[in-house]
Amino acid sequence: MIMYRPLPFFNERKLPISTLVIHSMAHNADEGIKQLEALQLSAHYVVDYDGTIYQCVSEDKRAWHAGVSYWRGETDINSCSIGIEVCHRSLGQSKFNKKQIASLIELCHDIIRRRQIAPTMIVGHSDIAPERKPDPGKDFPWKELAADNIGIWYGSRFCAQADAVEMLSTIGYKTDTEQAVQASAYAFCRHFLPKKIIKLPVKKLVDNPYPDDCKKLLSDGEFMTALQNIYCQYRIYSKTNC
Ligand SMILES: [Zn+2]
Repeated sequence: MIMYRPLPFFNERKLPISTLVIHSMAHNADEGIKQLEALQLSAHYVVDYDGTIYQCVSEDKRAWHAGVSYWRGETDINSCSIGIEVCHRSLGQSKFNKKQIASLIELCHDIIRRRQIAPTMIVGHSDIAPERKPDPGKDFPWKELAADNIGIWYGSRFCAQADAVEMLSTIGYKTDTEQAVQASAYAFCRHFLPKKIIKLPVKKLVDNPYPDDCKKLLSDGEFMTALQNIYCQYRIYSKTNC
C-alpha cells in the first residue's frame, strides 16, 4: 500500500522516463519528507525503515532529486528519471532492513514493468553525481536487487579490455575531467566493490563523498577486474558486440 505525502516541488518532464535513481537519506520518512520540503526538493517515493512507501510526486512529473548529474550522456536526469529515497540512518553504511528492501524491490519491479526501464539505467545517486553524493551508500544491497532483475551485477563473461576511463565512460559515468574520473572510480566501488569504501561519520561523508587519494584505484588489480566484468555486462545489456 502506498501512502500519499505530496510535495509541491516538481515541474514538467522534458524527456521520456528511462532511468531509476535510488537515494538514501539519514532520516525516517516523516523527518526526511519535512527536510525535502525545507530544501524545496522532492522525490517520487520515500521508503521508510519499516517498508512503508510514501509517494510525494506523481511519476508523470519531474521531481527534484538528482541535482547536477550525468549518466550515459544525459545531464537532465530529473527529466528522465523516477527518484526513490530509502531511509537509512548511516546513509547506507550498515545493513538495510529486510522488510524495507522487500518493499523497495516490489516498488522497483512495478516501476520497471510499467516504464520499461533497462537494467543499465538503474543507478544510485552516487553513480550520477560521484563528485557530490555518497548515497545510497556502500552497504546498499545492489547485488540482492540484481539477483531479482533490478540492475546489473557481475557475470561470468569477460570481453575485450579497454582502459579504465573508457570502461567507466561506457558504463555511464562522467569522465570528462581528472576529478570526475577519480570520483567515478570511487562511485563504481561504492556500487560494485564496496569493500574498497571506508565507513565515515555521516557529516564527513556528505561533505567529502570521495577521498583525495582514490587515483590509485585506477591501477588496482581488483578494481580493474571488477570494472572489466561490469563493463562486459553493460555491453551485453546494451547489445554491443562483445
Ligand atoms: Zn540522493
